[in-house]
Amino acid sequence: MTQCPNLTRYSYDESDREILNVGWLAPEHDYRKGIVDERVVDALRVLSADYDNQMRGVHHCEFCDADRPFVLGSPAMDTEVWLGSAEIRVRGADGTLYTAPNLVIHYITEHQYCPPEEFCRAAARTVGIETAGQLTLAD
Ligand SMILES: [Zn+2]
Repeated sequence: MTQCPNLTRYSYDESDREILNVGWLAPEHDYRKGIVDERVVDALRVLSADYDNQMRGVHHCEFCDADRPFVLGSPAMDTEVWLGSAEIRVRGADGTLYTAPNLVIHYITEHQYCPPEEFCRAAARTVGIETAGQLTLAD
């Protein structure tokens, strides 16, 4: 798995849409740590049940020994969603599309990953959560 720095252009898309990478972490690179509002995690869990953006192959967490980690996702939080085999896409208020591996949920909850504020805001917005103030607090 190659690491894509945050907010670089997504490399797999063949259209001209602006798509930015978030959360493609690798152990050889430092990443931003901090606290993420739990509403953002809930939003990502809701969105994780959408398997439209299935990736080729499965990516494992390279920071721990978690074997096929999963979360409970979907609007009812009752669907087991395997992390590492699909992407989560969210759209910001300005139309920018962000794409993250669904492992980003595991990175946030288990490895203190703190995604860019604009991505967290877009995730909340995509599921219709109104938010005020900061959603992330970096260490
Ligand atoms: Zn892990």
